Amino acid sequence: METVIQLAYLAAAALFIVGLRRMQSPATARRGNQLAAGGMLVAVLATLFLDDILSPWMMILGLLIGAGIGAVLARQVEMTAMPELVAVFNGFGGLASALVALAEVAQYTGGSEVLAPDTELGAGTAFTVVLSVLIGMVTCSGSFVAYGKLSGRLGGNPIDFTGMRTATLGLLGGAVFFGGVFVASAGAAAWLTTLSIVILSLSALALGVLLVVPIGGADMPVVVALLNSYSGLAAAATGFVLGNIALIVSGTLVGAAGFILTVIMCEAMNRSLVNVLTGGFGGEEGAAGAAAEAPEGRTVSETSPDDTTILTSYADQVIIVPGYGLAVAQAQHQLREMAELLEERGVTVKYAIHPVAGRMPGHMNVLLAEANVPYDKLFEMEEVNGEFAQTDVALVVGANDVVNPAAREPGNDISGMPILNVDEAETVVVMKRSLSPGYSGVDNELFYADSTKMLFGDAKESADAIVSELKALA
Ligand code: NDP
Repeated sequence: METVIQLAYLAAAALFIVGLRRMQSPATARRGNQLAAGGMLVAVLATLFLDDILSPWMMILGLLIGAGIGAVLARQVEMTAMPELVAVFNGFGGLASALVALAEVAQYTGGSEVLAPDTELGAGTAFTVVLSVLIGMVTCSGSFVAYGKLSGRLGGNPIDFTGMRTATLGLLGGAVFFGGVFVASAGAAAWLTTLSIVILSLSALALGVLLVVPIGGADMPVVVALLNSYSGLAAAATGFVLGNIALIVSGTLVGAAGFILTVIMCEAMNRSLVNVLTGGFGGEEGAAGAAAEAPEGRTVSETSPDDTTILTSYADQVIIVPGYGLAVAQAQHQLREMAELLEERGVTVKYAIHPVAGRMPGHMNVLLAEANVPYDKLFEMEEVNGEFAQTDVALVVGANDVVNPAAREPGNDISGMPILNVDEAETVVVMKRSLSPGYSGVDNELFYADSTKMLFGDAKESADAIVSELKALA
């Protein structure tokens, strides 16, 4: 039986790795996700059914409740709220890892009625319990604070108070001290073991809160990616506590993948991780849609859906640059229809995808895939940036920071961030509702450039109008 379990774990680990590999391309990502989910099911079934931990009915009930809640949440969530959902999942992941490690402690200290008391909690296992509880509890409370900030329930502004850093260091010191007491007392005094792990758990929960509250709302998606990495590490530590290979492999994969994603996001914003964690960058999102006026003496050139239709339909090449506003407007279907109608007229249409467009990694890819935009029309920033100079029209749809030339200048919040060079195109049409800045709050000079035309309005309504005009032209 033991061999069957180990083989099932091996199969699950292989499925995780193949699944992760398939997530490298939008064309195979969906299948990759299904494979990884299948791997998790294999691991869960092997552990529960073969290890005979609980009665099969209890397990099936647990699986049904968990899978049911997950399915409802995933179906209901708005695409723009995806980082919030991931934050909640991370929080529960961290909590689950810590609780499993605590249950293992209860087994040794005689506090568990389900599990038979074991002889002794060795120092090695005790050390991994400390890691699991510390990282798991920090992930749990940190993730729920991140959720609160992303959903606006806590407000996005960085929170700071006098003595906050001292309190954070004090909590970290306390957690390390009681972790040491726990390891030293393991197998000796049960009451000391229990007391130290309880204090460690509470300190870690408070630590998670204090680590995340000073970070601004604009950086929360990066924090969520980092907490995702932590949740993996907590699971891997719990895997060592239980001697469970599948948990060690999956936890390590999540830990590494989450960390790599964090680094990629920081690089795409030209920020260091330390700067994100200590920066307090960005607060509440600017009043989106507020009629931000042009400063005195500056004018913008406005355009209409009719003129944009003429401009694009006589172009050789149009590059569409989607951004967060596309997700807000849910204009992806209209955009795809518009692109198809232009292609029927012989126009080459491409989509330029900036790595941090939107509010989560791959946000634009997911939106466009939902509207069945063919993957071979999507181009990464490095692939497409050289093409704007030979492009007739760059159509910026609800994007702002990722096309803001201020990034090329020093001294502002997005300085050094690589951008899509839309300003090199012959004409730039910007579809958004007002002149208000993007997530970074930095004004965009592009709107005032001679080659730029502003098509004000909700992106879905504007795209709809262009589609009707194109149909009328046909
Ligand atoms: P921005 O946030 O810079 O700009 C989005 C624009 O969309 C706004 O200026 C807004 O203008 C417009 N908009 C909103 N609603 C609509 C609508 N219904 N119709 C038309 N336009 C609309 O988005 P970008 O995608 O350019 O940049 C992403 C930003 O998010 C970057 O600063 C990035 O660093 C940051 N970020 C991204 C992460 C990621 O993983 N992708 C993670 C963390 C941060 P208006 O109100 O005038 O309509």
